[in-house]
Amino acid sequence: MKDEIDQEEVAKRRGIYFPAFSIYGGSSGLFDYGPYGSLIKDNIQNIWKEMIFSEGPVAMLDSPALTLQNVLKASGHYDRFFDYSVQCKSCNTKFRADDIVESLGLKVILDRDYLNNIIREKGIKCPKCGGEFDDVRIHKLMFQVDQGENMDPLFLRPETAQGIFVNFKEFYRFFREKLPFAVIQIGRGYRNEISPRRGLYRLREFNMMECEVFLDPKDEKWVKEPYDDVKIHYLTNKDEDLFMTPKEAYEKGIIKSQPLAYFTGFAFKFYSRIGLDVNKIRFRQHKKEDLSHYSSDTWDAEALTDIGWIEITGIAHRGTYDVGRHIEYSARDLYAQRLVEPHKEKKIELEPNFKEIKRDFGDKAGEIIKAINNGNSTVFLNNKQISLEKYIIRKEVEVTVDRESFVPIVVEPSFGLDRIIYALLDHNFDKREENGYVYLKIPPQVSPFVAGVYPLFPKEDLEKVAKDIYQKLLNDGFKVIYDDSGSIGKRYARYDEVGVPFGITVDYDTLKDSTVTIRFRDTTEQIRVSINDLTSKLRELLWTGKKN
Ligand code: AMP
Repeated sequence: MKDEIDQEEVAKRRGIYFPAFSIYGGSSGLFDYGPYGSLIKDNIQNIWKEMIFSEGPVAMLDSPALTLQNVLKASGHYDRFFDYSVQCKSCNTKFRADDIVESLGLKVILDRDYLNNIIREKGIKCPKCGGEFDDVRIHKLMFQVDQGENMDPLFLRPETAQGIFVNFKEFYRFFREKLPFAVIQIGRGYRNEISPRRGLYRLREFNMMECEVFLDPKDEKWVKEPYDDVKIHYLTNKDEDLFMTPKEAYEKGIIKSQPLAYFTGFAFKFYSRIGLDVNKIRFRQHKKEDLSHYSSDTWDAEALTDIGWIEITGIAHRGTYDVGRHIEYSARDLYAQRLVEPHKEKKIELEPNFKEIKRDFGDKAGEIIKAINNGNSTVFLNNKQISLEKYIIRKEVEVTVDRESFVPIVVEPSFGLDRIIYALLDHNFDKREENGYVYLKIPPQVSPFVAGVYPLFPKEDLEKVAKDIYQKLLNDGFKVIYDDSGSIGKRYARYDEVGVPFGITVDYDTLKDSTVTIRFRDTTEQIRVSINDLTSKLRELLWTGKKN
């Protein structure tokens, strides 16, 4: 983005995004997408969905944002999802302790005592008012929602992924018990960030497009090979800048996991399609000490913007952590199975001792037999708890085994939609040299409207033709907007700023020869087209981007 363009100012003025609840003073970290922004967001989401479904074995989930405490205990969020905060004793502003230390170029270790000591030793003061800091505290990042007395609280999900993991078995059946497959979820995540800032960059309620790829650890391969037709900037954990294709990165062992390498390419192609400047995209590998507790390798896609490199997508190898933890905490079978060479194994089989049971329980024998067949070790009968041990016969048998259970591993590309929109606007706002007007050069597929239809002047005869054209284009399935207020120059400028790529203008020549002008947002060039050819011309422009 050109330095002088203030993204937030244009976004607010033009109804792309703006602070939520502003008539009541607003609240930091909460934003609305307005009439144009919500359409841009929707288009990006739809492109992502279309691209990911065309991978093949992909399904979608829509699960609640309110999440059970036990789910988050299993995932580790309940105990580990926090930041360290420091509060200024004078102005009460809260900061992330690691941000404060890092901003002074000092080494960051995510440890409370370390952060406390370094702030004391170096005499670090509040950057806002110069006041002294209180002690470093733990700041929990999840929003807790009370359910009422004697009930565990619920939590607003900090990511959409857990909904997918707890439903692994549902999807395993859906995919006829075959790996690999991926499950996506598009929805909101909630994090009580200490210092929400920079518009869409750090929100407390944000939009995620998450994809969990389930794989067999013995055959860790996605269904497609890493791309060979895009060169990507990789920044390794040894601070090396490499430029290579995902295929090369995988073959050279820079990215050890095939699906991880594949999804860097997928993300890159997606960014390119929605109009991010791919020269301002890099994939940065986490350093060993920065990896999340569950991950063995993570590559963040970062975009260069006016606030520096920002993480827009995390692509993490999560190992067997997620499904494994839910198996442990729920005591449910969330295993996958693989075929093995048929072989014999010894197995203990439990059998009811019918003679003893008949003798001791008479006509109640059936209940005891049922309990044993269910695998129970005790049963409640005639108000008494009875141990079943002495009524069970254990037999060692040999069985043929042709499959074994295992915990699937997960590779997760997690796309943060709001930051992608932030970067998209940053990369695509531009200023015209000749008059300084701002325009947004996003691809037509991402634009809130494909075209605007305008009568040149507010005259009844022009308006009538323009409205007919507008209605015809709507009927033909185009997302178009009609506007007859203000000078034509102002209308062009208004829709240029929100990225509408084509302007269709009805003038006095239209009344004579049934032609209109199509004006191009990026060049301001105009061509003349017959009304009858408008639909096919627009289709052609959308498909090819060519003008004539
Ligand atoms: P994470 O699970 O932390 O890797 O987050 C996944 C993606 O969500 C990141 O790459 C960001 O793009 C996005 N994200 C995370 N936290 C926030 C936030 N507070 N505000 C906006 N986007 C966020």
